[in-house]
Amino acid sequence: MAFAYPELHLVVAGRQVKGGGRTTEPVLNPATGARLADLPLATEADLDEALAAADVGFSVWRRVSAVDRAKVLKCTADLMRERREYLAFLVTSELGKPLAQARLEVEQAAGMFEWYAEEGKRSYGRIIPSRAEGSRQMSLREPVGPIAAFSPWNAPAITPSRKIGGALAAGCSVIVKPSEETPATALAIAGMLEEAGLPAGVLSMVFGHPAMISGKLLSSPVIRGITFTGSTAIGKLLASQAVQSMKRMTLELGGHAPVIVFDDVDAEKVGVAAATAKYRNAGQVCTSPTRFYVQAGIYERFARAFEETAKAITVGDGFDPATGMGPLANARRVEAMEEFVADARHRGIRLSAGGERCCNAGFFYRPTLLTDFSDDCMAANVEPFGPLAIARPFETFDEAILSANRLPFGLAAYAMTNDVRRAHAVAEAIEAGNVILNHWTVSLPETPFGGVKESGFGSEGGLEGLQAFQNTKFISTLTL
Ligand code: NAD
Repeated sequence: MAFAYPELHLVVAGRQVKGGGRTTEPVLNPATGARLADLPLATEADLDEALAAADVGFSVWRRVSAVDRAKVLKCTADLMRERREYLAFLVTSELGKPLAQARLEVEQAAGMFEWYAEEGKRSYGRIIPSRAEGSRQMSLREPVGPIAAFSPWNAPAITPSRKIGGALAAGCSVIVKPSEETPATALAIAGMLEEAGLPAGVLSMVFGHPAMISGKLLSSPVIRGITFTGSTAIGKLLASQAVQSMKRMTLELGGHAPVIVFDDVDAEKVGVAAATAKYRNAGQVCTSPTRFYVQAGIYERFARAFEETAKAITVGDGFDPATGMGPLANARRVEAMEEFVADARHRGIRLSAGGERCCNAGFFYRPTLLTDFSDDCMAANVEPFGPLAIARPFETFDEAILSANRLPFGLAAYAMTNDVRRAHAVAEAIEAGNVILNHWTVSLPETPFGGVKESGFGSEGGLEGLQAFQNTKFISTLTL
């Protein structure tokens, strides 16, 4: 491939910023562990400048008509599709996922901008019938104000696009802190927004010490709303800071998705599909199917099909067309996998597939399956966020629901059945923001995506994703 990983910078008040004595941090290729580039880290002064630009940028951007805002967003989507190969190259370079999966991610990220471009034009208010003669009552949707957005490393194109697209469509300015581990994809998208005509200063993109940046942005009165995707622990920390000045919040936090497989389905077919879904992006997805509860009559056949599929996946460099699963994003994830497996071994849980590192360099770990797990093992309680699944049999509907709902998370849940009555019952009984029946696709640009319980609150995507960046204003007029 003829692309080169770019030099990195910050985007502050419409300028590309680097050097100037700023400290840097290396960005690594997870397939080799080698350094790709050095990332400059924002100083307090950079953040002050970004805040001032967001303040001015908001007063400019909110006055741009929804139709003209849509033109900028649609043009960005077009540029992303035109340069899909370059963006996919960046995603695979810094995250490691196979190139084919990276291309799909870029398409979906472009779809986010396209969706918000269209939906922003349909941001209707209401006329509310009034009680008195000569009175007119209406509600309007107004942009919340400057937004601080924080996105993690596991979907370097989709997550920033969803946050930036929604905020800009609503008329907000944004300061984004994407992950320091996957900065080039987000920076390339910021460049395309500028090329598409986004006024300077409406979007700043900063990297640095996460706690310093969030502390500074969240304590500023300029920022009126935050949107964060990441772990539940950090989400709680940011929420406690944001509430001090009553900022609007959307929090997409951890998950630990249960999958209930009933005995009326084809065990082999579902076992193969489940394993394929599990190891996509090396399982580093907050909606990744993880806890498999399989009805006793088909459990053995399901587990065998899952195990064989897991063992057949080729693990390797994402640029190799033969690769089915790339490396994990960083050394922390590999260490976490080792901890989960050591805990399971200690408890005598059966390791049916994987359970070890592989390849010579980089952050690789084999697709792993633990069967007949017990509720006290670490993997049954802590989100693996990696290529690790657990499975065990169940007997009754109520037992499966109890197991599915036993954790404090409630992001995605799946069920497989051909019985419509069961499908409705399970969809109603499961405590999750997203219930997916008989397939594995959770999030699309046009559908709402969000969690309940400790998986966070608020939605991204769909109409709800736009409304997350809007306040409702009520206006009541009486003719004198
Ligand atoms: P982490 O909790 O340190 O970081 C997660 C993300 O939050 C990163 O992008 C990081 O830059 C950001 N972050 C961390 N501290 C922050 C702060 N004080 N202010 C603002 N942003 C901050 O953990 P990690 O090692 O990167 O990932 C570990 C766990 O995080 C995973 O096991 C998973 O549970 C969760 N995670 C969830 C998602 C998701 O899509 N919901 C994505 C990535 C990680």
